[in-house]
Amino acid sequence: MGIQILFASSNPHKLQEIRHILPERFQLLSLEDVGFDKEIEETGKTFEANAEIKANAIFESSGIICFADDSGLEVDALDGKPGVKSARYAGEPPDHARNVELLLSHMKGKTNRKARFKTVICLRLPGKTLFFEGAVEGRITEEITGGNGFGYDPVFVPDGYDRTFAEMSMEEKNEISHRKRALEKMLVFLEYIE
Ligand code: IMP
Repeated sequence: MGIQILFASSNPHKLQEIRHILPERFQLLSLEDVGFDKEIEETGKTFEANAEIKANAIFESSGIICFADDSGLEVDALDGKPGVKSARYAGEPPDHARNVELLLSHMKGKTNRKARFKTVICLRLPGKTLFFEGAVEGRITEEITGGNGFGYDPVFVPDGYDRTFAEMSMEEKNEISHRKRALEKMLVFLEYIE
């Protein structure tokens, strides 16, 4: 059966990505698996704070080793925005297309297009809280390009590439993604768990 580890999400894409790279001795559980259906308010001002809020809530309710992630896009010319507000940049309800449009309008005429996607994972073990960060540097395009992925993928070109994330296959993007980089750091730590 392996060591149970609970991921504070029910997002099937993220679960699939994590299941794919987690060593076999771990049994990955989702919020659905443990019957957790409460809304957790992400009131933190940083990715770390929000990931910790989620991990603490799930750990306290389940008692199972768990981890939570929080991600977003930081744009240098916008002082790090949309940051923790990435999902709701254009307001409620969260809407990827409106967020991207708003971002492009704020970036009009800006020559510094540097940006990064960032993920912070908070891992909760009995008596321990650990953080793992992953980032991918890149730039914001002038217009929307590509139909794959989600969120800000159609306007983000990672350094070393000339295509947006939305022009890449899921496998190609996942290979270099911020989430993958944070997950890999956590996996190095999990090697030492008995
Ligand atoms: P979450 O914390 O992973 O749910 O991400 C919050 C928001 O950040 C998402 O709703 C997207 O707007 C943005 N985001 C995070 N990761 C990505 C990505 O890989 N591609 C595009 N947008 C992303």
